[in-house]
Amino acid sequence: MPPPFALKLVTKKMTDTSQTFIAKSTIKAADLEHRRKINFNIGKYNAVVPKGKEQFADMHLARERAKNVKWRAIETLDQQLEEFELNFTKRGGKVIWAENAAQAIEEILAICKEKNCKTLVKSKSMVTEEIHLNDALEKNGIESIETDLGEYIQQLDGEPPYHIVTPAMHKSKEDVAKLFNEKLGTPITLTPTELTQVARKILREKYTEAEVGVTGANFIISDIGGIAVTENEGNARLSCAFPKTHIAIVGIEKMLPSITDLGLFWPLLSTFGTGQKITVYNTIVTGPRQENENDGPEEMYVILLDNGRTNILQNPKQRESLYCIRCGACLNACPVYKNIGGHAYGVTYSGPIGSVITPNLQGMEDFKHLSYASSLCGNCTEVCAVKINLHELLLENRKESVEEGLTSFSEKMAWKVWKLASMKRGLMNMGNGNLKNKVVNGLFKSWKKHHGPLDFSKKTFNEMWKERYKK
Ligand code: SF4
Repeated sequence: MPPPFALKLVTKKMTDTSQTFIAKSTIKAADLEHRRKINFNIGKYNAVVPKGKEQFADMHLARERAKNVKWRAIETLDQQLEEFELNFTKRGGKVIWAENAAQAIEEILAICKEKNCKTLVKSKSMVTEEIHLNDALEKNGIESIETDLGEYIQQLDGEPPYHIVTPAMHKSKEDVAKLFNEKLGTPITLTPTELTQVARKILREKYTEAEVGVTGANFIISDIGGIAVTENEGNARLSCAFPKTHIAIVGIEKMLPSITDLGLFWPLLSTFGTGQKITVYNTIVTGPRQENENDGPEEMYVILLDNGRTNILQNPKQRESLYCIRCGACLNACPVYKNIGGHAYGVTYSGPIGSVITPNLQGMEDFKHLSYASSLCGNCTEVCAVKINLHELLLENRKESVEEGLTSFSEKMAWKVWKLASMKRGLMNMGNGNLKNKVVNGLFKSWKKHHGPLDFSKKTFNEMWKERYKK
């Protein structure tokens, strides 16, 4: 079997996206201050997760059960989605099916236009990042305010989220104080509590001004026709309850068949996401305000977004990646993520799960390089809340990209030579260790940029074997 690094050694067809990825990763990997901050924050996460796990009598069984529930949800997704629509519309909610990002944006803009929306409040949602909602709103003269503190910090800094759960994970408290000082004119000496108060005061006013509130959803629940939103700050509740119109946008894979599944999924998401036993606010929304209710929006829409998910659904091997509950545990465990950080990936979903799904959501040719940026250590699979075989799916992506003919001529030739040499003992035995070192290290120069040179044994395997067993 060839060594796992072999794929990295050969020259691949370089797309713009892969070149940018390599350039950004190279810079970040050498940034020791960045690594210090990430290790500090991931260290805090690692310290609390074991505590959260104590609430499960059998952690392995809980993850196994969750995987089974998601298996059922995804295998029957068409029926589950229709059941959700039926139940949700019964209470006056409106469902919009969006095949891609452009359709979702078009629908949101049409609603905003109808409501004469000038200001929109938004809670944390990776799907809205995926469709670049803020850019579209801005282009159409609508102010969009991120209300999650981490997202608000990132918005102030003009950066996308760095991590799917903790958007400003790469920033220290000093970085945030400096940012607020530059953007909001607050004293640079403010503590995290004081900084939070500043953001809170600004955001509170925005909730009452906004005509439309946008949220994501952690789960779609088909049997009650509702969505479930998990958060720690209460901002999602305010975003969906204050404005007269609430739009929830959610990827179709977020399906759970029953409200009773939340008994497992809420603690699972909390523990694997942040180490909490249960997240502070867990809300189920089943439609707009009803006649006998005092609060809530007058109108509520749920946009069910495909945007490439059905490509994954139709692939029996990759389908498993749709079980993801976006807890972020695989990012925190990944040695690659910990070195290059979330922004180097250049895509919405970073880390192992991002490297698995992005080539299938956005195109293998432009994003296959993400699947190669892995040591295949399997740490992601070990920690996954719903036991997705992430490292095997990375390998599957590599296989599919080869089958699609996306490998360069030089890569194909390198593998041919490797295979030829591996299958002929005579060729393997040709030349001594020094000669092999010269040839291989000369051929695979890119490997040497980041690693020590390969060092072949002075004697061949046959020579060593004969020496050992000559008697
Ligand atoms: S792949 Fe697993 S560990 Fe990674 S975010 Fe999804 S559920 Fe969490």
